[in-house]
Amino acid sequence: MSGMRDLLPDDVKPEHYSLTLSDLRIEAPWTYSGHVEIVLQVRRATHTIILNSHELKIHRAQVTVQNSSDPGPLVHSSSDISLDVEHQRCSIRFGVELQPSVRNVTLAIWFEGCANEYMAGFYRSQYTAPSGVATHMFSTQFEPSEARRAFPCFDEPASKATFDLQLEVPSNMTALSNMPVKTSRPSDIDERTIVTFERSPRMSTYLLSWAVGLFEFVEQSLTRKRSLEPLPIRVYTTQGLSQHGRRGLQVACDVVEYFSEMFDIEYPLPKLDLIAVHEMSDDAMENWGLVTFRPTALLYNETTSDPSYVSYITYIIAHELAHQWFGNITTMEWWDELWLNEGFATWAGWSACDHLHPDWKVWATFAADDMRTAFDLDGLRSSHPIRVPIPDGREVDSIFDSISYLKSASVIRMLAARLGLPAFLKGVSEYLKTNAYGNATAVALWEALEKASGQKVVSVMTSWIEDVGFPVVTVSRTTDNQIHVRQERFLLAGEPKPDESTTLWNVPMQVPTREGIRQVDLTDRDTVIEDVNSDSSYRLNAGQIGFYLTQVPAEEFERLCDNISTSSIEDQIGLLTDVATLAMSGRGSNTTAEVLSVISSSMTAKPSYPVLDITWFCLDRVQSIFSDDEDISDALDDFTQDIFGQAALDLGWTVQATDDHVTIKLRALVLSAAGLAGHEETVEEALKLWDEFRKTKDTSVIHPSLRGSVFSIAMLYRELEAFDSLREAYTNSNAPDTREIIVEAMSVVQTPELTHKCLTWALQGGMTSSDTSDLMTELAKNPAARETVWVFMREHWTSILERLGGSSAVMEPLIRSTLQTFTTRERREEVEAFFTGKDTTGYTRGLAIALERIGINAAYRERDGEVVRDWLEENDYLDDE
Ligand SMILES: [Zn+2]
Repeated sequence: MSGMRDLLPDDVKPEHYSLTLSDLRIEAPWTYSGHVEIVLQVRRATHTIILNSHELKIHRAQVTVQNSSDPGPLVHSSSDISLDVEHQRCSIRFGVELQPSVRNVTLAIWFEGCANEYMAGFYRSQYTAPSGVATHMFSTQFEPSEARRAFPCFDEPASKATFDLQLEVPSNMTALSNMPVKTSRPSDIDERTIVTFERSPRMSTYLLSWAVGLFEFVEQSLTRKRSLEPLPIRVYTTQGLSQHGRRGLQVACDVVEYFSEMFDIEYPLPKLDLIAVHEMSDDAMENWGLVTFRPTALLYNETTSDPSYVSYITYIIAHELAHQWFGNITTMEWWDELWLNEGFATWAGWSACDHLHPDWKVWATFAADDMRTAFDLDGLRSSHPIRVPIPDGREVDSIFDSISYLKSASVIRMLAARLGLPAFLKGVSEYLKTNAYGNATAVALWEALEKASGQKVVSVMTSWIEDVGFPVVTVSRTTDNQIHVRQERFLLAGEPKPDESTTLWNVPMQVPTREGIRQVDLTDRDTVIEDVNSDSSYRLNAGQIGFYLTQVPAEEFERLCDNISTSSIEDQIGLLTDVATLAMSGRGSNTTAEVLSVISSSMTAKPSYPVLDITWFCLDRVQSIFSDDEDISDALDDFTQDIFGQAALDLGWTVQATDDHVTIKLRALVLSAAGLAGHEETVEEALKLWDEFRKTKDTSVIHPSLRGSVFSIAMLYRELEAFDSLREAYTNSNAPDTREIIVEAMSVVQTPELTHKCLTWALQGGMTSSDTSDLMTELAKNPAARETVWVFMREHWTSILERLGGSSAVMEPLIRSTLQTFTTRERREEVEAFFTGKDTTGYTRGLAIALERIGINAAYRERDGEVVRDWLEENDYLDDE
């Protein structure tokens, strides 16, 4: 595949970097001076060295060569340095030809960079210090291809090298990097200190990291089980926040012990730091030994934080720490294997959560959230195979998506279930040991898994990894004890064209027979299965393990609905996922009526968090697509009240000391769902709490877990008054979770005027960049606000680009999420026309996805509008006119 990649020439390869940054300006223009010395291995004679550089000023370069015949090293300066801005490359030509026979070749470059504000490369984030003063901290985000923004380097994952780092920082600040501090001494400049770090192991540039700021920390020391060496683990924060790192610290310790055992390899570095960074484009980043997190993904205030964040924090920490082994020790050869890195860390992250908290039932939540999200993206024509050719490192941002994370994790989970967990983990451990400190591809993992399990892996996995999409298995009953099953590619846009459905997947099915459940793999297009027990209802995809949808005959569908209260949580989720996804495509006779029927039947089951979570999602989507008509919208609200109202009354607004994590999350969910649908008692209680909060300006009058519900319901009923108070609370709050909750609550806004006001305030600096982009995304999900968001985007396009356009990691999801919610063909044309002629580099894929989805929404709306109306009428939610 390498022929398809636009890689740097491999005439020379880096072996070691010595990087020095000095004179960092901690005010505008935020520049620093840099010097890097790169020890090179020359593979082919060349005059020119080409490496990556982006937004750096290169002052000069020289190469030092030590021939064995020469008495001393020879230094050659380059008089010819040229930059290729588009390809982010720097080409340095020398008068001498560098020869492979020469051992000691060191390239030295003097340059200048800038600690930017784009959450990419070496960047700054602003925050308010406990004193109330606006302050900055500095940190890095190099994945995928942003190390080149900080220093000239061979910025490709296979170009592993060791790193020595030296930073000159203000003496009152702390400097951190992947490795522990080696020395610290005063600089020649007043009030500056020069900090050097221990040499790193061989690693990819995207994993290098450093951070500088007014930090404090909490610490715990683990004893490594095998070597008995101590491992200090710290959570770093800016001043005043470190105590909120205690919970995350404990999670990190537990997770390191779990993974050390699971991978059968000890954590490989001398220390592990986790640091909260005030502005991050993603939740977190797995830099080796210095993992960066959004504050909400790491910090937890035991008295004021929303307890529902506990599972999120646990998962994110576990995901990033899984990378310390999988990804950091053994790294993908190139970005087309990103999925392996992310899919595995996602799976391992949830496995760790399941191990630490079996009561959370995380795999049910995974099925309800992650798998459903993956089906939703992979059902598009503009989806991509899990393994996708990435010719250019600058395009990687567009595949940090639900395919690379969630579909990959689903497929890995399916494989682990097939091989059995012990064999699966043994294979993974072998893979990591064999390829330690190097690069590898999925093939190496498959081989290790085949060896460990004695089962076929390559042939089972190939189509899941190499082909786009996933199958829908259609079941029909041929005779009483015989069923016919057929697999085809599923498309949200409807039936696939013949050339779109050529893949045959290896689909694991659970077939009920008189002797019990039989495991059958569907590998052909069609097959007939005998001896089926015709008396019991069945789910071929029992436990929602397989990454596929099932379409069953009408009588079987009814039987599944009737038996829903005795089905497992995973099977309830599976049934709803199947019908909701099929209805959107209009495949066969599937409509929204089935979706509403499944939801209605599920009222007989005991309320469970993951089931109600996906139920609310499905109802929200039906609202989003069909709510143009006020009658329908009101009737759907009434139906939503029926689903959530009783649970809201039963759970009430009082949090009990004995409530477990899942109950706390369930209560917040049902109160929000019921209240936002207008459930009277719920709204009344919420507004009572809101008034109390308004009067006292004291957030503690509302239990932290209920703040989101109260704020959102207040935003719906109290509009401007709520907006003003929430804006004030946002501005005065330092608690990151409060800010996130406020962003979500504000998105419930109902009028165009207030939507506009909200957006203007955010974009003009009222909110941080990441919150602004989150606010736009959330607002677009709200049918009452999305038209205004679109008008606003067009009017303020230049300001949006200025504020958020510096990084495709921000722009790509922003474009995709804000535009994909429209439901008419006219809007689709408008969006297309608006972007025609604009440079969409960095979000081309996001735009294509949004356009396709608007088309699907429009077709769905036209097809099922009457169906929804009829169902609501038949079930007495709508008066027959
Ligand atoms: Zn990851």
